[in-house]
Amino acid sequence: MRALLVLILTFATLPGFLPAQSAPWRLQAGADVTSVAEVSDAGYPAIPVSALLSLGARVSYAGGDIVVRLGGREVGLRVDSPGVTAEGRTLLMGSPVYSRGGVVYVPTEFLRILAGASGGLLSVDPQTHVARVDAAALASAASTPAPAAIPATPAPAPPAQTRRLVVIDAGHGGVDPGAVGPNGTREKMVTLAVSRRVAELLRDDPRFEVRMTRDRDTLIALRDRGRFANQWRDEGQPALFLSIHCNAHTSRAETGYETYFLSEARTADARRVQQMEDAAAQYEERPRGTGLDFILSDLRQNQYLRESSDWAQMIQNRLREVHPGPNRGVKQAGFAVLVGAFMPAVLVEIGFISNRAEESMLADAQQQETIARQLAAGVRDFFQVAERRQGS
Ligand SMILES: [Zn+2]
Repeated sequence: MRALLVLILTFATLPGFLPAQSAPWRLQAGADVTSVAEVSDAGYPAIPVSALLSLGARVSYAGGDIVVRLGGREVGLRVDSPGVTAEGRTLLMGSPVYSRGGVVYVPTEFLRILAGASGGLLSVDPQTHVARVDAAALASAASTPAPAAIPATPAPAPPAQTRRLVVIDAGHGGVDPGAVGPNGTREKMVTLAVSRRVAELLRDDPRFEVRMTRDRDTLIALRDRGRFANQWRDEGQPALFLSIHCNAHTSRAETGYETYFLSEARTADARRVQQMEDAAAQYEERPRGTGLDFILSDLRQNQYLRESSDWAQMIQNRLREVHPGPNRGVKQAGFAVLVGAFMPAVLVEIGFISNRAEESMLADAQQQETIARQLAAGVRDFFQVAERRQGS
């Protein structure tokens, strides 16, 4: 057994065994271009399935299968299978879809199959590694009904009187103080005070159903926070999940505000913030979720990525009106608290508690009120834009 393992390791490290680094794919949707690196650790070129979002596709997980939707066309995939189902027929790729480290990868040849199934919306050049979607045609295809041959599965339109669910998640709590400022201000108390005000402000409007994952100084496990949100949501009910936190840095000079949506952490700074926020799990008694949970959650969350990133931008815009800054922008990270909430979800860092000036600001009731008003406005902005899109 050991000899075999040594042989495999030796073989894998021989020069020439690993394919040469190939050029990244350029995924173009109108003027937007996203560069995506190919991986070949399974022995064939593949890209993360989430990269298809850059082409305006929707990726969702349903009953063990992956469904990719592009302009009203649906294509089905399955992890560990080379099969692609489109219009009731199944094609076989040369290699299977696979998952590794919580990420699902599709062989790059899937891009050509998706192009074939897209009815001309998507064109793919495997030589130059360019995949281009006609954004204007995609927009009009998405607004026209899908052909009868393909079962369309639109979400049932919510009745006009449906209240929008807003889940407010005050970071940390109980034995977990979160970050602590130089003057002793605890993050858990700031997040609770601001969260309560956001909830009160939104409750003034009868169109909102507002829930808090905690409304007192108590510890709620990270994974339970999203789970509660899902339980509170009625089928088809419009919903948002807002997690409120304060940032901290070993450099006391750092200041500003930033908003995250769920994805792989893209920068060292995003990884730092993710590690800090996920460290709350050390206070939890229950074991963490299995890797499989994460894969399934990741896929179900994917369909909300675009809405989440749009919403993160709206919140940044609202904070910019009142916050001394700097505006540190919209960022991506794989926060445990966002993984389990199957709705648009963001985590906002409203300021650095590790900076003396921002600590004073965060501890001040009037400033908390100001920040809460902007966050509530950011929630209203999201629904206003979403409902305008639906109505047009
Ligand atoms: Zn925090």
